[in-house]
Amino acid sequence: MDARLEAIRDTVLARNPGEAEFHQAVVEVFESLGPVHDRHPELLEAAILERLCEPERQIIFRVPWTDDAGRVQINRGFRVEFNSALGPYKGGLRFHPSVYLGIVKFLGFEQIFKNALTGMPIGGGKGGSDFDPRGRSDAEVMRFCQSFMTELYRHIGEYTDVPAGDIGVGGREIGYLFGQYKRITNRYESGVLTGKGISWGGSLVRPEATGFGTVIFTQEMLNSRGTSFDGQRVVVSGSGNVAINAIAKAQSLGATVVACSDSSGYVVDEAGIDVGLLREVKEVERGRLKDYAERRAGVSYVNVGSVWNVDATVALPCATQNELDGGAAARLVRNGLLAVGEGANMPSTRDAVAVFQDAGVLFGPGKAANAGGVATSALEMQQNASRDSWSFEHTEERLTEIMVGIHDRCAATADEYGEPGNYVLGANIGGFVKVADAMLAQGLI
Ligand code: NDP
Repeated sequence: MDARLEAIRDTVLARNPGEAEFHQAVVEVFESLGPVHDRHPELLEAAILERLCEPERQIIFRVPWTDDAGRVQINRGFRVEFNSALGPYKGGLRFHPSVYLGIVKFLGFEQIFKNALTGMPIGGGKGGSDFDPRGRSDAEVMRFCQSFMTELYRHIGEYTDVPAGDIGVGGREIGYLFGQYKRITNRYESGVLTGKGISWGGSLVRPEATGFGTVIFTQEMLNSRGTSFDGQRVVVSGSGNVAINAIAKAQSLGATVVACSDSSGYVVDEAGIDVGLLREVKEVERGRLKDYAERRAGVSYVNVGSVWNVDATVALPCATQNELDGGAAARLVRNGLLAVGEGANMPSTRDAVAVFQDAGVLFGPGKAANAGGVATSALEMQQNASRDSWSFEHTEERLTEIMVGIHDRCAATADEYGEPGNYVLGANIGGFVKVADAMLAQGLI
């Protein structure tokens, strides 16, 4: 890393102790930014990096609620409003027991660059809670969401901060959150949350957008090497919103997705995952992958080891951060891996990324490859602002244009900085330059 940036990095790490994921995200971005600072020394003078690493506002709050047995439960809520140089803070809410400030800050930091890459007027933010919705009744989830929003509503708004979903937050949770926001504020302010149901202000394609977008981005990378998804053997991790829609899109382009996972195990389905059955089990019944395996002939369920033990020519990690390590990456590469498209945020460890890049594997980092979700959220905000709703075809066309645009911007930036095919560098510099320009123009903020 560039020595000037190393000093700034050390200060950032020391100022934010114990936040391992945030440190990882910062270091990964800093490693790309030396060449931009050579060309633009004014960025150092204006302390753009120091400012970028310090969130504009961090809100931490108590979320008290009662479970079905009448016991009082306490969780912790977070919203980190990281950077508003390009527009209102935008980024999802994650409900998962692993959530703490370091996870929310890593996600919010990544979100700044991701949102800039979409070319849309949205800043970066992220939030969530250590609440675990798994195994909770609908009534418990509702009471939790109502309590969470009873504090969060003070900080958000269609021109201020617009949350959406992430792990553990899907259509059900957004519904309960929106209902409580509306009740407290007495405003039907559709644009305050995205990922809403289609009959009350949501956008077609938003549920599919992150998974579809990841596959579109990966298809563009494959095209750059004269190939495509057609005939590829694909492994996807996760079996939530992003994973299911990535599987559906990859198979619609002629690939066979032979495996996917949840946090208990993975299934191997050599005939190709049956997306209809997977949706039934996971989205309708809120069941586990084990149930999928029990209902389909020829499928094996494995509850030890990692889904990355299954060979693939294309890997789409769509579960969570740091799920694919250097050892798994080396194994995949040995067995013929061509491309990785990150549907999740930072699913590959730094070692894994190095293995992929050294081996010349096409590697699409999450902040570029999974930006289709937030981009379609911005399309939802546009529809809300104009009291309009677009067709599936039109919205999908916009998503495709946006993803192709992000791919091309990353590729062109990597070329411009002398590292053709380095999508990590392209995404980091492409996103950074846009935010840095806006911050310079707006004075010392
Ligand atoms: P979901 O909650 O719908 O699904 C998450 C999936 O990942 C589940 O299969 C879950 O398994 C698995 N998973 C979660 N945590 C772990 C863990 N610690 N170890 C192993 N498996 C785990 O979330 P999404 O699909 O929405 O999100 C997946 C990823 O995509 C996240 O990294 C998120 O930040 C990213 N993302 C999501 C966007 C969106 O629009 N939803 C937008 C951009 C990025 P189990 O059910 O067993 O917990």
